[in-house]
Amino acid sequence: PRSIRVVVLGAGGVGKTAMAVRFVTKRFIGDYDPNLETIYRHTAVVDDEVVNFEIMDTAGQQDEESLALEDKCRWGEAFIFVYDVTDKYSFVELDRLKFVASYAHSKSRLSFTPCWGLVGNKSDLADHERIISIEEGRERARDLRCHIFREISVKESMYEAGEVFEDLWREFSK
Ligand code: GDP
Repeated sequence: PRSIRVVVLGAGGVGKTAMAVRFVTKRFIGDYDPNLETIYRHTAVVDDEVVNFEIMDTAGQQDEESLALEDKCRWGEAFIFVYDVTDKYSFVELDRLKFVASYAHSKSRLSFTPCWGLVGNKSDLADHERIISIEEGRERARDLRCHIFREISVKESMYEAGEVFEDLWREFSK
């Protein structure tokens, strides 16, 4: 089977762990250790093809740790940037994360082009607590040259999280 290494990046609390766990287990678990950092391995069939996903869930992305973040970015072939539609800070943080990821990639002179995705999570809170509109999200995806953009609710939807990973694979394997 073919494989893809995906790095999930975003500010603390946006739902990175919840998204990866949802894809791997189909379940939503409310609370995780915010410092948890791990690689999930999951095999899925995408368009009749067996694909091994390796997903790195990142934590503790403070400035002083940006070197470590660079290392993670060198590992990745595809990246999902996640923000929370109710959290302005998480939206602002995207620029820095994309910069670090792009920089790490170009510096290490890898032969492939990485694949980028942008996800606005917690759409279930959109009616009352939304701060970032879907248009702003779409525009940011264009600015950051992301191939994929989606608003999702990891909490409410069993499948949306997985669809992001599948879309990323489709883009990556083009
Ligand atoms: P991480 O720090 O980015 O890994 O975020 P977590 O996965 O730990 O999630 C942070 C918090 O957001 C937890 O309390 C989750 O239950 C909650 N959460 C995650 N996804 C959603 C969602 O789609 N909707 C809502 N309302 N809460 C969510």
